[in-house]
Amino acid sequence: MTGVAVLGATGTIGVNTLDVVRRHPNLYQIIVLTAHSQFERMAKQCEEFNPAYAVMVDEQSADKLETILKTKGLNTKVLHGSQALQDVVQLAEVDVVMAAIVGAAGLQSTLAAAKAGKKILLANKESLVMSGKLFMDQVRDYNAELLPIDSEHNAIFQCMPTDYARGLDKIGVSKILLTGSGGPFRELPMSEFAKVTPEQAVAHPNWSMGKKISVDSATMMNKGLELIEACWLFDTNINKINIVLHPQSIVHSMVEYVDGSILAQLGQPDMRTPIAHALAWPNRIESGVSMLDLVAMPNLEFVEPDMQRYPCLRLAREAMQTGGTATTILNAANEVAVQAFLDKKLNFTDISKTVEYVLEQIASRPADSIETVVDEDERARIVADEFIEINTMKAGAVH
Ligand code: NAD
Ligand code: MG
Repeated sequence: MTGVAVLGATGTIGVNTLDVVRRHPNLYQIIVLTAHSQFERMAKQCEEFNPAYAVMVDEQSADKLETILKTKGLNTKVLHGSQALQDVVQLAEVDVVMAAIVGAAGLQSTLAAAKAGKKILLANKESLVMSGKLFMDQVRDYNAELLPIDSEHNAIFQCMPTDYARGLDKIGVSKILLTGSGGPFRELPMSEFAKVTPEQAVAHPNWSMGKKISVDSATMMNKGLELIEACWLFDTNINKINIVLHPQSIVHSMVEYVDGSILAQLGQPDMRTPIAHALAWPNRIESGVSMLDLVAMPNLEFVEPDMQRYPCLRLAREAMQTGGTATTILNAANEVAVQAFLDKKLNFTDISKTVEYVLEQIASRPADSIETVVDEDERARIVADEFIEINTMKAGAVH
């Protein structure tokens, strides 16, 4: 039995992970489940999977969970606080850690899993964007195993030989083709962007996801974060990665080789495929995802992204080229701006403006320690909040 910890169990990725695990009771045992505050959903998950530990970051939610579990006679130990996230990933019974907390909140626990030499299934791309070099160094130094859950990176991983870490040049890779759907506003006239509401932005045409990543998909900051993620995961220069818009989300990314071959991974837009792939790797297990019907499939289109339409893509590319803490700043400013947009304090078009402003205000410095990264993340959040406040006063009420 493989012992599994699911960080962010109540989220979209967490729920999909549990659905895959549910199909294989003889292979996987849930040891840890964690969430921020959704104690009712967590209680149901504990009832079904009977983990040894449940962590609620929010203390009151932990108390409520404990009360429910007691009445049900479950012996799951309930912990609270963010330090507990770092403690539980180190447990000897935990072999695999699904890192599926959203945003910078997932950084420390994901790093702790690396330090404990675990097999990490990485959904929390923000942690890699914040601290790419430090993160990859820890994975290497502590012999951890890192498998990408992001569908594009999982596809790229599947299209590469297992020894790709020798270097992409050595294995004959000429380009990585990172696909993206273009989000819900690919064809919306740009003059209407400022009026876009959070409800419209979170309604992705192909994928069902958490709110933050859905807004990131609409601005295409998600593809920008993924560009940075791909540079770190596959140890490659950003110029070797091309973004290709593919509105049908059937091809999940591709790898070009020097001999003229392009390898692609195709499948339904359903995260259970990359989750099952990474959980079982190097084996394969059933995921519950239906097979593509190639004959009934729509025509597949591939087009170049319009950089005018997606300023966040440019900002992410520039931040990666700048290096150091620039990507930490980009990520933090984006998280604050997306939350402000969801709270209706900011227009859709102001998300990229906030990020650009914060990147202009804070000079990048070497990301040489986790303390520096955490400090830079906090600074960027303060500057982003200031920008949003000034912007709100100037604009009056939004929407
Ligand atoms: P979600 O919002 O649905 O779930 C987030 C989870 O994180 C929840 O369990 C929540 O309780 C927990 N959480 C939130 N704030 C927290 C905090 N401060 N401390 C501890 N836990 C906290 O998000 P999601 O869509 O499942 O995405 C999770 C991660 O996976 C993100 O980094 C996202 O970019 C990545 N990802 C998601 C998808 C997808 O299809 N949903 C695809 C690729 C990558
Ligand atoms: Mg993705």
